Amino acid sequence: MEIAPIPDRPNWARRFLLAFAVIAPCLAFYLVRTNLFLALAPIFLSHILLLYATLVANCQWFGPVMRSFETTEPEVWLTIDDGPSPEHTIAMLDLLDRFQARATFFVIGHRAEKCPHLLTEILARGHEIANHTYSHPSATFWAAGPGRISAEIDLCAELLRAGPDRPAHYFRAPAGLKNVFVHPELKRRRLVLIGWTVRGLDTVQRDPAQVAGRIVRKTRPGAIVVLHEGQRVAKDPAFNPRCLELTLSGLLEKGYRCVIPRPEQLRPHAAGK
Ligand SMILES: [Zn+2]
Repeated sequence: MEIAPIPDRPNWARRFLLAFAVIAPCLAFYLVRTNLFLALAPIFLSHILLLYATLVANCQWFGPVMRSFETTEPEVWLTIDDGPSPEHTIAMLDLLDRFQARATFFVIGHRAEKCPHLLTEILARGHEIANHTYSHPSATFWAAGPGRISAEIDLCAELLRAGPDRPAHYFRAPAGLKNVFVHPELKRRRLVLIGWTVRGLDTVQRDPAQVAGRIVRKTRPGAIVVLHEGQRVAKDPAFNPRCLELTLSGLLEKGYRCVIPRPEQLRPHAAGK
């Protein structure tokens, strides 16, 4: 599968943000003689704008983020993050088989390293794998520099290279946080950043019915749906598979099919979002 390149348009929002970050201290230096608060305002505003673009997962100011895909059919793209997990992956695959659903697994490199047979199983059952960093540094990735970002992407990519014809084309940042250095590194590797349309919030919710209910309620054709695996294993070993099962049955009831979109269906401003 050859990935369709994202149109290489100049990103004016990114240019503005970076130029403003440089100009803001100069402005502050100029204004400090008149009023201290007025002088601090441009620096404050510049930081707020940079933080917003970094911390808001679907914000496109630094570069394209796929938040949905183009379709006129009742189809959704189910994405399952944070695996593979010895506790859940096989159960999740059995559920996907039962509901004739396809999914993309955004896997963490160091977990894939421990159970490569699960990657083989995911691919053998007709699903896809994608890059979710090597160590999933969700608390620090937003502040990582180019070297660390490259290492996280490349170490994971190395583990996912299941065959020359099946490289992973998609990347999702840990917790969706991506800073100003992420897009240039992705572009260099022809990787597409995937956001989401709807999350079940299964990392914080405790009730699988609420997780599935939120997804089914907010889903529309072309939605990118996020679920997780490998969570709350000690407290409730069946939590993640149960979330998936209820989500799949809820989506089926509403007539939705879970598909993997073709690369040309992915556009930063796909219809409906
Ligand atoms: Zn994750």
